[in-house]
Amino acid sequence: MPLKIIRNDITKLTCDAIVNAANPTLLGGGGVDGAIHKAAGKGLLLECMKLGGCKTGQAKITGGHQLPCKYVIHTVGPKWRGGTNGERELLESCYRESLRLALEYDCSSVAFPLISSGVYGYPKDQALKVAVDSITTFLLEHDMLVYIVVFDKASFQIGEKLFADIAAFIDDRYVAMDPIFRQTRRDECDESTVLYSAETVLPDEADQADQAVFPPDFAAEESKAAAPGSPDLKRVSLLSLKDVLNQEEESFSQALLRKIDEKGMTDSQCYKKANVDRKLFSKIRSNINYHPSKTTAIAFAIALELSLDETKDLLQKAGFALSHSNKFDLIIEYFISSGNYNIFEINEALFAFDQELLGV
Ligand code: ADP
Repeated sequence: MPLKIIRNDITKLTCDAIVNAANPTLLGGGGVDGAIHKAAGKGLLLECMKLGGCKTGQAKITGGHQLPCKYVIHTVGPKWRGGTNGERELLESCYRESLRLALEYDCSSVAFPLISSGVYGYPKDQALKVAVDSITTFLLEHDMLVYIVVFDKASFQIGEKLFADIAAFIDDRYVAMDPIFRQTRRDECDESTVLYSAETVLPDEADQADQAVFPPDFAAEESKAAAPGSPDLKRVSLLSLKDVLNQEEESFSQALLRKIDEKGMTDSQCYKKANVDRKLFSKIRSNINYHPSKTTAIAFAIALELSLDETKDLLQKAGFALSHSNKFDLIIEYFISSGNYNIFEINEALFAFDQELLGV
């Protein structure tokens, strides 16, 4: 299962475990630690008092008490001392050890704040990179839904140069349209909601088409209609509809599976790289007429490292296009044109430009 980056207050999340950026005493503090203890109530402090503290880079687990989660995993991040004192390794260890505990306690969902990026001073962009890298490494081997919860927008900021490059790319190509069409879906989202797109399975259209051409009562008329000298115009037009439908192009799902084979990838390599849920991938695999959301279709194009033309081709099979009157599309085009297929970097850029994120 994938990694989701959301903006929210971690104490409000309903998942199996939330992670606390604690200090070595485990007796509460400021920042996210203070918020978690406040929301969990005195019981959490009493349980923490029995744990005997925790070393930097290690993790310990308690119950969730009055929080909506089952467990709180307390980990102690490193203090930033310029970056050359083993900070990165210790921070990686926080994620690894917390995820190990989550696995041991059978958690299927766990939420992390950006450990060390507050009072402990780890630069937010680097803290986010460590979080994403550590979690994705873990997810290559394990099935779990992992959230990174960012509290403020500054936590999720791409480098200034990249931001400026993308902004210039958009400026050069952006085709002004009526403001109504420029409205992005992200603009309509509640700031605190998860940024992902729901998928829809449409009824099997091919089956429907067959039924439209050969309903049972009509089939009974088949020989009559086909009799020489008695042309049945209705039947002729229906048959041509079937002919047309039979020539239907390869579907999105068929094209995706073909591309995965061509690239020599396994299914799981592909959906994990696309940050797409395994269950969603099975739906796509088992229904050749599956209609993905645009963000999912693009996530697969990125995972497959398709060229711009190949991406457009795959999108077209799902009924989508890339346009120059849409910032989201231009950002995708920017990354593909520059050969950068790192979905998490793309998502950071999309987030910075207030766009919907890729994958689920
Ligand atoms: P540390 O001491 O490890 O730096 P902090 O609690 O000071 O821990 O900050 C860690 C991160 O948690 C910061 O990015 C901060 O913005 C964020 N944060 C603070 N409160 C919350 C909250 N309620 N939910 C999610 N994140 C939070």
